[in-house]
Amino acid sequence: MVCLLWEFPQNLLGAIVLGFLRAAGRPVKITCDHERLFIRAPVNVSLGMFIFFSPSRSTAGIDPIMRHEYGHSMQSQLLGPFYLIVVGLPSFFLAAHATWHARKYHRLPKKYLERFPERWAENLGRKASPILQDSARY
Ligand SMILES: [Zn+2]
Repeated sequence: MVCLLWEFPQNLLGAIVLGFLRAAGRPVKITCDHERLFIRAPVNVSLGMFIFFSPSRSTAGIDPIMRHEYGHSMQSQLLGPFYLIVVGLPSFFLAAHATWHARKYHRLPKKYLERFPERWAENLGRKASPILQDSARY
């Protein structure tokens, strides 16, 4: 309950995104684990307890995209109502640039995961890997 209120702005956005995906008939598969909703969807974004991710093509170990988004979810837990400003905005603009770059050059920018807040999310996600082992099975 505390996390619902502490992370209220991003939880509200996450519920809205999930509602839009369902209303648009987009396929989503939801699993609840570690007090988070892991949602396979055609979008990669972490909004409070809602972790949306499009599984990567990687078949070995923990899905790196899920792990990265879980790292953002941990940032949300740490920052609470400041998450969207401190992490969400810079991450959104980095992702927008990366999408443009990938369309133009057919690859992500080399330093995408080295920038703030992406590197922090990567580090948090990697540290959480042991507890994500079960989540990686679905
Ligand atoms: Zn990210």
